[in-house]
Amino acid sequence: MEKLLKEELQGTALNLKGAEKNTRKLYIESYGCQMNFSDSEIVASILTGEGFNTTQHMEEADLILVNTCSIREKAELTVRKRLEKFNAARKVNPGLKVGVLGCMAERLKHKLLEEEKIVDMVVGPDAYKDLPNLVREVESGQQAVNVILSKEETYGDVAPVRLGSNGVTAFVSITRGCDNMCTFCVVPFTRGRERSRDPQSILSEVSDLWEQGYREVTLLGQNVDSYLWYGGGLKKEFANASPMQQATSVNFAGLLDRVARAQPGMRIRFSTSNPQDMTLDVIDTMALHPNICNYIHLPVQSGSDTILKAMNRLHTREEYFELIKGIRQRIPNCGISHDMISGFPGETEADHQQTLSLMEYVKYDFGFMFAYSERPGTLAARKLEDDVPEAVKKRRLTEIIGLQQKHSLYRNQNYIGQTTEVLIEGDSKKSEAHWMGRNSQNTVVVFPKEHYKKGEFVHVKIEQCTSATLLGHAVAYSENNR
Ligand code: SAM
Repeated sequence: MEKLLKEELQGTALNLKGAEKNTRKLYIESYGCQMNFSDSEIVASILTGEGFNTTQHMEEADLILVNTCSIREKAELTVRKRLEKFNAARKVNPGLKVGVLGCMAERLKHKLLEEEKIVDMVVGPDAYKDLPNLVREVESGQQAVNVILSKEETYGDVAPVRLGSNGVTAFVSITRGCDNMCTFCVVPFTRGRERSRDPQSILSEVSDLWEQGYREVTLLGQNVDSYLWYGGGLKKEFANASPMQQATSVNFAGLLDRVARAQPGMRIRFSTSNPQDMTLDVIDTMALHPNICNYIHLPVQSGSDTILKAMNRLHTREEYFELIKGIRQRIPNCGISHDMISGFPGETEADHQQTLSLMEYVKYDFGFMFAYSERPGTLAARKLEDDVPEAVKKRRLTEIIGLQQKHSLYRNQNYIGQTTEVLIEGDSKKSEAHWMGRNSQNTVVVFPKEHYKKGEFVHVKIEQCTSATLLGHAVAYSENNR
């Protein structure tokens, strides 16, 4: 899921519209995956009810919250540096309180609160509804902590306050936690067991977004294909549900179908798909509805069967190819992206070559690529030696990134001379005279503004490209404007 978030947004402070009567100021910084940014919108919403409006200036804050990420060591180190800075501000301004939210909370609570004493409050990802109490405790001079992971919490009843967004695209969380237990991954430990959100609350959030002028939603979860609503509760307890609950349950294909039918003018995306859980009925549902984007983020992590097994990814290289074939048969122009890890324990040069050859076969539109980082508590950390030297991990990563750039350029060059539908999201980063948007395949498209407006669907004829961007001219409004 992480891949959705641009590097330059990491650490961005939220600036939200607040309630007029509120007098206290909250400064909230978020790191890591899009889920964390979505969670910060839930936190801001909860604290709006406690008299806090958000600010982008930490100097004027009464409360600083850092929504943290543990996925790789580098992410944790970045957050640690920020906490040191906030602690220094706390010393100058004794009224200022600092809290840690999210994935670093559970593992580091003792260290941050008691050993180093650099924060006042530590709150895990399922405890945000307890924030009003925790903030009161902190304001009375005590430390506060709640890192309990829940079996039910989905925040389905909290209307997120949107990040000072582009007003066109939004994220809607549909599952929390993850049950997959990939051996490299810390998420099941930091975010708990997998649970799904009530489809009614998802439909009503999407409908509110439509009313507010949003034109694209991304349904968000660590493993969206595993979505299963049977009246609440953990996915792994579905087998114990009543026959009636089982018969009326909603799976991910069912949810997608409902959202697409309820809001036919809204573009729908989803992320992240795990190959072991993605089924052909999801792809059939995508093919059925023109408003579901032709794009799948399908992390594979490695091209070697030996490494896939060691990672506890429950599919083989051949099965992944079968899935790719199934996608391309049903949706020939589907954009496909990936996540890849170089240097997992035991990875040989031959395994690495398998990764490169898998990439050659798929020729992904784009990808998100990482060197393996051992995470405390994961199965890999407990059972496998982190035995690939850093320099080798980096060299393999460079080769993976180089190959991906070549494939991205190849995919983008295929658009030249074609017309593609773009939803306008805002100004291009490089020029105020140009719009930036995405096509259905999630590729960025930049073109001169002319008379077109943000939030409109436009057909753009592609004339040039780089490996990251398509460049062209708008030729007409799309019939999808409503
Ligand atoms: N749930 C998704 C899945 O299983 O495919 C994505 C989980 S994670 C938030 C996003 C990406 O970070 C992963 O797909 C993986 O490529 C990368 N990642 C996770 N743990 C890692 C680790 N220990 N070292 C390096 N990269 C890691």
